[in-house]
Amino acid sequence: MQLSDHFTLGELVHSDVASRKGIDNTPDADLIPNLKDVSTHILEPVRLHFDQAFAPTSGFRCLELNRLIGSGDNSQHVKGEAVDFVIPGVDNFTIAEWVYRNLTFDQLILECYRPGEPSSGWVHCSFVADNPRGEVLTYTGKEYLNGLVS
Ligand SMILES: [Zn+2]
Repeated sequence: MQLSDHFTLGELVHSDVASRKGIDNTPDADLIPNLKDVSTHILEPVRLHFDQAFAPTSGFRCLELNRLIGSGDNSQHVKGEAVDFVIPGVDNFTIAEWVYRNLTFDQLILECYRPGEPSSGWVHCSFVADNPRGEVLTYTGKEYLNGLVS
């Protein structure tokens, strides 16, 4: 199923951990609109701006999978509202900064980025249509800091 021009449902539910553990990571049908929204409003504009193909490293996570990787039950990944991604060859701080300046989002987190190591970490971004918070955080691997910190 195509969620948006460049992103498929298969890409947003793919999980090596789920495959390995035999977990069925298929979202309920009522979550598909959320996955379409995050693809349309976050992934597509990033894809167009950086002009480079990529697949999110993590999109939807069923509760079982989400717990298995140690994420909290209220994670927006469980609701199909969040994606984690990197773009080959593009610094993750650069990606996060572009999202921050150009897109409407609910929460943007630059995760586990190490300054001077462009490929370190990843970008987490969520979208909700109603009252997006526009919250911006940096997660160092130990703590959350306000804003994008490099
Ligand atoms: Zn995430």
